[in-house]
Amino acid sequence: MGTVGRQIVGKHAEKVVELLNKAYSDEWLAYYQYWVGAKLVVGPMKDAVAAELVEHANEELLHADMVAMRILQLKGTPVRKPEDWYKHSNCGYEDPSDPYVQMILEQNIKGEQCAIKTYDALMKKCKDVDPVTYNLALKILEDEVEHEEDLQGLLEDLQEMLRRNR
Ligand code: FE
Ligand code: FE
Ligand code: MG
Repeated sequence: MGTVGRQIVGKHAEKVVELLNKAYSDEWLAYYQYWVGAKLVVGPMKDAVAAELVEHANEELLHADMVAMRILQLKGTPVRKPEDWYKHSNCGYEDPSDPYVQMILEQNIKGEQCAIKTYDALMKKCKDVDPVTYNLALKILEDEVEHEEDLQGLLEDLQEMLRRNR
């Protein structure tokens, strides 16, 4: 990023980079959670669920890319070592040790709810200091809101089906 582009963020750049690196770590962990969840998931509606998980995995990876680009613009460095993702992450990682479709959906819903809170908080922190990061957080937030809705929709469909089959 050019000089003036950085100047407007000024003394806040370091703090913004720190927050972006936390979100960046979340995105990679979310990416892998979806990616591996799609491989492991078993039970009713597993094909529909796996397809949605793959789609979300790709979108989380895109988020990681968008966040990394902004970190670089602010002359920061994206977290270099995967082992450090755990240290920085807000939302962590849910081990899909029980690959039953309902468990996988619930884990990922929890992750999305954390992501929504993370980007909402990032927007509030950037509101008066960094309009570009504010706008980035808004774009990503829109995706995370959609992700939560998609997963809750699938969970409702699953519960409805199980109810009818009882
Ligand atoms: Fe994301
Ligand atoms: Fe998401
Ligand atoms: Mg979706």
